[in-house]
Formats: sequence, structure tokens, C-alpha cells
Amino acid sequence: MTTSSFQRSLPPVQTVDDTESMSSFDRLPLAPATLANLQQLGYRRMTPIQAASLPLALAGRDLIAQAKTGSGKTAAFALCLLAKLNPRRFAVQALVLCPTRELADQVTQEIRRLARGEDNIKVLTLCGGSTMRPQISSLEHGAHVVVGTPGRIMDHLQRNTLDLTALDTLVLDEADRMLDMGFFDDIAFVAKACPRNRQTLLFSATYPEGIASLSRQFLRNPEQITLLEQH
Ligand code: ADP
Ligand code: MG
Repeated sequence: MTTSSFQRSLPPVQTVDDTESMSSFDRLPLAPATLANLQQLGYRRMTPIQAASLPLALAGRDLIAQAKTGSGKTAAFALCLLAKLNPRRFAVQALVLCPTRELADQVTQEIRRLARGEDNIKVLTLCGGSTMRPQISSLEHGAHVVVGTPGRIMDHLQRNTLDLTALDTLVLDEADRMLDMGFFDDIAFVAKACPRNRQTLLFSATYPEGIASLSRQFLRNPEQITLLEQH
């Protein structure tokens, strides 16, 4: 079943119509405040990976999206998780796993920029190398979105300091790098701690066998988007 869903993948992006109207954020089901904020940020048109993935992600599909670094993958998942977020529900509704602290900090910044103009949305970064105590007290104060490295997120789950029962969206960012760093088992542990009826979005620059294995185990009937490099 999963194998056939891989074969039903989207065509590579060369065939995606990248005209002005097709790549305008306006055609997405986004809140007016979000569209106004995107304009303020200078995001006039969707990048190809955003144009290919956002309509599917906003429709609730699980995704495996493959595109090179710098192609705008963060906004592709951030706009989706923010669109689903209920600011009045003070619980962790989205979790983004990243390979390193540096990348987690960048993702947190981008989510905060994209969330500007909406109600107070709290984004918390939880990475290894920092002491546990301040992270635990931040978690006690609550957060809507958590961004972190797999080992530290697993650590919080084992200590019961992170509650994922209200989670709607799980994002595996730079999944190939996380696998290179030996995080497969930690990712699997975290994914198993998430509610079954969540949406899972996997982003990767390459598609090694480990990604296929992660997808088979933790994604539900995913659409696969591959953006080949254009020269
Ligand atoms: P990736 O994760 O694919 O490596 P990023 O999400 O970090 O790429 O995005 C690269 C840069 O492009 C960031 O500085 C981001 O703010 C910017 N960016 C993303 N989407 C757009 C857009 N639609 N228009 C203009 N700039 C964008
Ligand atoms: Mg990225």
C-alpha cells in the first residue's frame, strides 16, 4: 500500500506552472493576516517547493518533500503548521525535529517571523547541550510550537516534561542529515510518542534508503514531491 503511494508521486517541478498567478501566496487558503505579513516580509511569490507542497500540506496530506538547501522549505512547513494552530489552546500543537541547534534556532526564527501579526504564538527551542532545568521551566509555562533536536526531545518525553497529546503536526526537517547523525532510533521514539492522527511532513535534500524506511513507518499515504535542480 505504501509502495504504491510512492509511485503516485507528483511530477518533478519542471512541469509545475510557475507563472505569476500560480505562484502567488493569495491562491492558498491562508488567513488575511498571514498574507499581509508575507507581503511585509517581501515574500511576493512562492518558491517552487512551496508552490508544489503548500496546497497538499494545507489540505492535510503527509508529505515527503525533497529540494536543495535554500529553496524555502522552512516556510513550506511553517505556514502549514501555523494555519492549523489554535492560539487559544496553550498546548504543543506542532513539533519540528532538526539535526542541529543552529538549524533549530534558524527554524524557530523563521516560524516566529511568519507568525507575526497573529495572536501570541509561543515557539520554544529544545536542543541538547543546554541545561535541562530552564527548558523544563519553559515547558511548564507552555508553548504552541516546539523545535528541537531528536535526542533532547526524546529525553523530555522520557522524563514526562513534554506532552505531545495535543500534537497536530510533526515535521522532520533535514531528515537525511538527522539520519547521517545517527538519529533514526530517536526519531522513531518521538514519532511513536505522537498521536496517530497527526500530519507528518518530511523534508530532505536527498533520498537515501533510511528516508524510505522512516516514511513507511511513520507517514500515512504520503505524497512525494521531488524538485530536480534547474540550471
Ligand atoms: P531551506 O530550508 O530550503 O534551506 P530556507 O527555508 O532556510 O531554505 O529559506 C532560505 C531563505 O529564503 C530564507 O532566508 C527565507 O527567509 C527565504 N524565503 C523563503 N521563502 C521565500 C519566498 N517565498 N520569498 C522570498 N524569500 C523567501
Ligand atoms: Mg531548511
